[in-house]
Amino acid sequence: MFKLNQLSQQSRSKIKKAMLILPFIIIAVCVILSHSKDQRKYVPLNIQSTAAPKAEVKSTQGKAHTKTHHVASVPSYSYTIKNGDNLSVIFSKLGLSYKSLLSIMEEDLNHLSLDTLRPGNKLLFWIDQSSSTLTKMQLQFNPADIVQFTRVKGGAYSYKDISIKGDWKTTALVGSVHGSFSQSAHKLGLSITEIRTITDLMKDKLNFTRDLRAGDKFSIVHKVQSVRGVKTGSRELEAVKIVNRGRVISAFLHTDGQFYDENGDSLQRAFMRYPSKYHRITSKFNPYRLHPVTGRVSPHNGTDFGAPSGSDVLATGDGKVILTRDHPYAGKYIVLQHGSTYKTRYLHLSRILVKKGQFVKRGDRIALSGATGRVTGPHLHYEFLVRNRPVNPMTEKIPMAESVAKSDMKKFAAKRDNLMQMMKEKEVLLASQHHSQNNTSHQSL
Ligand SMILES: [Zn+2]
Repeated sequence: MFKLNQLSQQSRSKIKKAMLILPFIIIAVCVILSHSKDQRKYVPLNIQSTAAPKAEVKSTQGKAHTKTHHVASVPSYSYTIKNGDNLSVIFSKLGLSYKSLLSIMEEDLNHLSLDTLRPGNKLLFWIDQSSSTLTKMQLQFNPADIVQFTRVKGGAYSYKDISIKGDWKTTALVGSVHGSFSQSAHKLGLSITEIRTITDLMKDKLNFTRDLRAGDKFSIVHKVQSVRGVKTGSRELEAVKIVNRGRVISAFLHTDGQFYDENGDSLQRAFMRYPSKYHRITSKFNPYRLHPVTGRVSPHNGTDFGAPSGSDVLATGDGKVILTRDHPYAGKYIVLQHGSTYKTRYLHLSRILVKKGQFVKRGDRIALSGATGRVTGPHLHYEFLVRNRPVNPMTEKIPMAESVAKSDMKKFAAKRDNLMQMMKEKEVLLASQHHSQNNTSHQSL
């Protein structure tokens, strides 16, 4: 996995001028920062040449055709992230100061987008060659999801989400079980995430290894995103139907991002509102918060609770630990993924009690709160993200109920019927196309 800066040993007070020890997958590198007159000085990195990104960094200078649709000017460099890469090494290879990386991380504290970079993602750099200043950097997660940092006064960077909506195409797919469900679904073109979502959703109603029989039919409806005809890799499952020996089990995505069965009963456990027993809010969710010093918008994408250091931090929903990090500004933090729609983040922890990849249940103790990162005092910063966009976990209609609200039922039923119709049409179409083929396979069973 690609890791950024895992600052396992850090001193906040010294962060800008001290020695930072950065352990990461392949090698350990010491970056010694000191202030020279241009505020940029490097001790050469003692690394293996194979780990150096320099050879891979493609200069796009003067190649006008590499210009993207999202920016006005051609980037100085573009770089595709590989396994084991480290952003601080990439910066130093490009002659960019670690201070500029810290400035970007400081702004990214409110978004933590750098920590979600994965191998294959692209970085674009705009560098003022005369001063070796990074004027702009883009993170391209895919052709639709792009984040941009632009240098502003005082060497700080502003953050901008320049993601585009793209085209979402809704398609129904119909298949039958031969071998395992995962194999059959994969063959049909479902992604690993989609398969995982389905088995998660249905696990209380269906034992995928024991109950399913060869020939059991399943249908799904999903949305697939593309930008100018190129698939971005983003998908959203809308409906699932499995016919298990004549019994129909189905799931439909509601507008709240949660899956419900055909009667509107939730297939996912509801969330808890609070991640700790301390409910006193010391700082509210505020997407328009103005930074007291810079005067720029610096959103507070979470809710702060006044919890003393060492308090239990609880997972607010069933989920999987997808990230644990030590960030110079966000401190020790955890990201949980809940189904395909939701994520929760817990920042400034004193101790992380879970490991990446681990599954947790709602109410599980996952960490102890603290005051790590840049904080004025101990507290728990809690974020709730819907499709990667932060929402106010105290006021948003996050799934906390066991079924679709009565007032929403009409809307839910209309969408459900529409999705069922889509699956039915596809089933009928395939049945007529493969009639003779199906007969043969039934006989052979
Ligand atoms: Zn906060």
